[in-house]
Amino acid sequence: MVETLRTDVLVIGGGAAGANAALCAGRSGARVTLLVKGLLGKSGCSIFASHVPFHDASTEQRGKDRLRYSVRYYNHYLTDQDHVRRMGAYMRTEFYDELERLGVYWRRTADGRLLASDNRVPIMVAHKQGASGIVIMDRRRRQILGSGIPVYEECAATSLLQDESGRVVGVIVLDSKDGRIFAILAKAVVLATGHSDYLASRSTATREQSADGIAMALRAGAEVANLEIQWWHISDMLKPRTWMRMHLYPNPLLGTKETSRLYNGDGDVFFEQATHNPGSSAPYVDQIRRLSREVENGKANWDGGFYSGYDHIPADVIHAYQRQSKIWRKLGLDVQHDRLECGITWHMRQGGVNVEPDTMRTSVEGLYAAGGIGAHYLGGLGPVSYDGKIAGIAAADEARGRPEPAVPKAALAAEENRLLSFLRVGGDGPRPITLKLKIRDVLWRLGYVKNARKLEVALDELLALREDLPRLRLESASRRWNTGWGDALDAVSMLDACEATVRSAQLRKESRGPFYREDYPFVDNENWLCRLVLRRVGEDWEHSIQPIATPYLPPENAREPFFETDY
Ligand SMILES: Cc1cc2nc3c(=O)[nH]c(=O)nc-3n(C[C@H](O)[C@H](O)[C@H](O)COP(=O)(O)OP(=O)(O)OC[C@H]3O[C@@H](n4cnc5c(N)ncnc54)[C@H](O)[C@@H]3O)c2cc1C
Repeated sequence: MVETLRTDVLVIGGGAAGANAALCAGRSGARVTLLVKGLLGKSGCSIFASHVPFHDASTEQRGKDRLRYSVRYYNHYLTDQDHVRRMGAYMRTEFYDELERLGVYWRRTADGRLLASDNRVPIMVAHKQGASGIVIMDRRRRQILGSGIPVYEECAATSLLQDESGRVVGVIVLDSKDGRIFAILAKAVVLATGHSDYLASRSTATREQSADGIAMALRAGAEVANLEIQWWHISDMLKPRTWMRMHLYPNPLLGTKETSRLYNGDGDVFFEQATHNPGSSAPYVDQIRRLSREVENGKANWDGGFYSGYDHIPADVIHAYQRQSKIWRKLGLDVQHDRLECGITWHMRQGGVNVEPDTMRTSVEGLYAAGGIGAHYLGGLGPVSYDGKIAGIAAADEARGRPEPAVPKAALAAEENRLLSFLRVGGDGPRPITLKLKIRDVLWRLGYVKNARKLEVALDELLALREDLPRLRLESASRRWNTGWGDALDAVSMLDACEATVRSAQLRKESRGPFYREDYPFVDNENWLCRLVLRRVGEDWEHSIQPIATPYLPPENAREPFFETDY
């Protein structure tokens, strides 16, 4: 019989969202347990974040610019505008101050105001300490370890446990260190497993981001929404390959009004935020639209043949404020003269598990989702911390009135058998890592420019790859640190999430933000300003449309050509 632990609130994921959810649930009086596939504060994408948006509402115009940025440029209108306002207030009144008290060094002016970049939508960076995410997550790790919350690291949730009514009552866990399988029963569960970006050959994600959260939610019958709205980074380094998530920020730079430039193979500038998209401090969707024109004209490739650089900016400013200048130094190059070759990477996902943004409740009882995994907001360190706060408090409130769940013995036994069924050597099937590479290749080839035929091909390829699952062959049947075993389980999650992503993309008959269908090259706000909701029912898929309200900032046009929009 599988060992069973108990808690009030179980938080799955140790990034910025999960860490804050655990802390806030604990402060609300709940017994909390934190489960992390990697290491708390060292895994997921939170450590990669650098720029923190400054939610400045000091003048009416500043407030309007920030709302416009969040709604139009960052979320392409696919967010809840009241949530955006509440999140902005949290950033202004809690987030920056709390982190500063914990030791994150923001710069302040002589009269005590926070110092941010000098542009229409300012940003802050704890730049003297490196990337902001590393510093912030280091502080969060210490906070949690000092709080007495039990933390299970290098332990992956593999399935949500449900009672007879379908309510989520806990998870099954696989401990990578010794192969122990155990269960944690909880009165409420917060999923905070992040954006799940490890799904295309070039990506900003680390290996634990194999979409387990989305796959578990789908298997539990939860709604997912807008999975096809997937961001790309454009100016990430091409070489060395292991540096592919090293980002050459196109956003407003500190200490200067300049922004980086993107050059095609002929050396012509094809994107510069300061001139092409001054209203957005995260101009990724505009960048990739322009890059697609360069690719079409043979002047760049998706994986190379275009360049980024800061060589038009005084080097002392770059050295003083941009940690990226170290990249040049490490490669023996000169940031004042040399440009780096770039490739695109699959980045954060706007879509995810469908939640009510005022509680982070999902469509399944007992299950909350916070942070990058949610469909309500793109992400970012501050926004996902806000989600964590909301979800942690709501889950603790719910847990207070709940009885201890009964052990769902049959579900436990079934999941244990499923996990052990992958622990096999021999046969002529592929190794799990090979299957993972193939899955990532399918989505990489599907790429940015989509159409009905390419989507059909991708779906067929994914369905064909499922045939490999029962044939997977491990190198070893050891339960200790068996990465092949972990890879096999990751591959299942990846196939589930990728299939849902492609099916969702087939349904959306427009182009929006980072989502481009060349057979529907227009933004259609009349029909598709919505959550496109998908749910798995047994072997079938159901979908529905939930329109999104735009109370403060409606789009100007009902329909407009995709390549003429700036969002
Ligand atoms: C390269 C890069 C640059 C970025 N730059 C910025 C920036 O400059 N500014 C900004 O604000 N934002 C930035 N972001 C976005 C920001 O980092 C994310 O929105 C945010 O960190 C997401 O936090 P999260 O807690 O939801 O997920 P994550 O930080 O990804 O955490 C997910 C956690 O879930 C765990 N997990 C996954 N699966 C399981 C499982 N099965 N069981 C248990 N645990 C599991 C992981 O181990 C990890 O601990 C960037 C992201 C990337 C990738």
